[in-house]
Amino acid sequence: MNSIMNTYARFPLTLVRGKGSRVWDEKDNSYLDFIAGIAVNTLGHANPAMTKAIAQQASEMLHCSNLFHIPKQQLLADQLTSLSGLDAAFFCNSGAEANEAAIKLARKYFYDQNSPRRAIISATQSFHGRLLSTLTATGQDKVKIGFDPLPPGFSHVPLNDIKALKLAINDHTAAILLEPLQGEGGVNIAEATYLQAVRELCDEQGILLILDEVQTGIGRCGTMFAFEQAEIKPDILTLAKGLGGGMPIGAMLASAAVAPSFGPGTHGSTFGGNPMSCTASLTVLREIASSKLLDNVNQRGEQLRQGLQALAPSVPIIKQVRGQGLLLGVELNVEAAPFVAAARDKGLLILMAGPNVLRFLPALNVSAEEVDEALTTVAAVLKESKTWV
Ligand SMILES: *Cc1c(COP(=O)(O)O)cnc(C)c1O
Repeated sequence: MNSIMNTYARFPLTLVRGKGSRVWDEKDNSYLDFIAGIAVNTLGHANPAMTKAIAQQASEMLHCSNLFHIPKQQLLADQLTSLSGLDAAFFCNSGAEANEAAIKLARKYFYDQNSPRRAIISATQSFHGRLLSTLTATGQDKVKIGFDPLPPGFSHVPLNDIKALKLAINDHTAAILLEPLQGEGGVNIAEATYLQAVRELCDEQGILLILDEVQTGIGRCGTMFAFEQAEIKPDILTLAKGLGGGMPIGAMLASAAVAPSFGPGTHGSTFGGNPMSCTASLTVLREIASSKLLDNVNQRGEQLRQGLQALAPSVPIIKQVRGQGLLLGVELNVEAAPFVAAARDKGLLILMAGPNVLRFLPALNVSAEEVDEALTTVAAVLKESKTWV
């Protein structure tokens, strides 16, 4: 028996080092990395600014308990609140933990008002993490099977269906929890008009809007947060994946109205917001600002999208190209897995998003040449598909 539990069906590949958007296996074969640790390696691998910043921090202090003030955590909270327009941050170590914190804060907010509102409505096909609370919020049965009893107070509605949401809301609804763009669930975009209508509905009914930007946040979609594109603001925002550029960190941000419900003793995390993770996040934010990375996300995103779109006429198995910035998906009318494997054999690492969608998530500093290289590989792989379907 393998001494690692078998929770991942791993690719037959062992990656040992990386530089920018390129990674190497233990036999020194190189691959172009359009997975980036599943939207984690924001600045690519072995980014010099990142390496320098975390080496410096490691030489000063790795960890400090949240029983003490942590200057880098304060700096990071200041920057994230200023960037998001929210007012206070709680730090944890992962996306699931950030969503758990969001759910707890929403419930506590209504508890503090003597309101019975406790229930969370989320979307079908959503993904919110693997904790008992967050897998229950997740709109996909496959993550729940075998883990009952699941916590009560969660229900699901189809994305982009405002009527269904209106019908689902009742006197016990505390919050609507949505991804602005569903990453794991198939690269499904929540339309701006839908998000605006949800925001209005929440305001009318006194319900909180929680946006899960664990995958979409920190520049991935071409704006610092995807919600900016819908010109709305959530009451609670969750971040993780790209926030640390490879160091584990999650964050839950909330408005001034909601945040005070987390007082001393209500929630916590031993590791959350430690000096190492916060240093990495500060480096990510600094690089995004100073090297005009958002422009690159938009330009490379457009280049990749157009290149994929241009394949469609000659590749009939392409159903749709969609996404935002550098979170792009190609829906096929056949299974996507063989194409992910074929791309890997040709030196390109891409992911799936559900059974039929190829997902592209390169580092935000990916170059035009690297995008061209990926497009050439994808074209070759999809055109060869004639022999397999
Ligand atoms: C990955 C992901 C999560 C879970 O993050 P973990 O760090 O794996 O716990 C939650 N929400 C979304 C939208 C994600 O993409």
